[in-house]
Amino acid sequence: MRIGSGFDVHAFGPGDFVMLGGIRVAHSRGVLAHSDGDVVLHALCDALLGAAGLGDIGQHFSDTDPRWRGADSSVFVTQVLALLRDRRLAVANVDVTVLAQAPKIATHRDAMRRRIAQLLEVAAERVNIKATTTEGLGFLGRAEGIAAQAVVLLTEP
Ligand SMILES: [Zn+2]
Repeated sequence: MRIGSGFDVHAFGPGDFVMLGGIRVAHSRGVLAHSDGDVVLHALCDALLGAAGLGDIGQHFSDTDPRWRGADSSVFVTQVLALLRDRRLAVANVDVTVLAQAPKIATHRDAMRRRIAQLLEVAAERVNIKATTTEGLGFLGRAEGIAAQAVVLLTEP
């Protein structure tokens, strides 16, 4: 078995929604990002790559590469999954924490879980989504941005 962790942050910017776990979540702000700025999927990719010993998301999908401008981050997950498959690594489970004062994700949690499970081609029971605020502290507490962390376990044959 191999464990990996990932963490990602994006600052809020102009817009009226954020992408979280492949789900469009209405919000008073958008995020500043080269791709669609989905912190959940970016943290997830880093956790998967970390567990596989394959570096980080920036090495595979450069934020200066025009191919990824405005990219749907689900593409990153799909490509990372292919790298794992090449190495005969399988996803045992995924645990994600979203850190933000807003937006609230409670009503989107099940959809995020289903979407991530679909992208990883595993049962939804293998994916867990949690959310927390930072009790008003720091840049997240001041609602300047949104963060996510992910932990994954991979199994080897
Ligand atoms: Zn990111």
